[in-house]
Amino acid sequence: MTPSKNRPLPTPTSLSAPHWEGCRQGVLRVQRCRVCATYVFIPQPICTGCQRDALEWVESSGRGRVYSFTTVHRPPRPEFDVPYVVAIIELDEGWHMLTNLIGCAPDQIAVDMPVVVTFERISDDISLPMFRPAPE
Ligand code: ZN
Repeated sequence: MTPSKNRPLPTPTSLSAPHWEGCRQGVLRVQRCRVCATYVFIPQPICTGCQRDALEWVESSGRGRVYSFTTVHRPPRPEFDVPYVVAIIELDEGWHMLTNLIGCAPDQIAVDMPVVVTFERISDDISLPMFRPAPE
């Protein structure tokens, strides 16, 4: 099930704007350090690997595997339709992202399942990156 489109939405900041603009364009962007090649997500002002001011935005493959997940039956706010799945995805580049997993029943999800990013257009400005099972 897709989480409700009435859910609270993120407010892009100057730091996170490249990520959200990428989502709006259907591209998953992540920061990577030009010095030590660490991928950094969520957006940060400096590298979490070497603490240098050397982050740049790069495109992710948008492909990964389920690292962990849970099914939410009691929503934190009434705007969320339940049940929905919250998952940590390990992208092929090795970084992790907290997101929603859609397009399959919760009892069909397994750790290590291949997934691919998809973008749920919520408004003119916001498309939320979510993941669905990768095509066979
Ligand atoms: Zn670094």
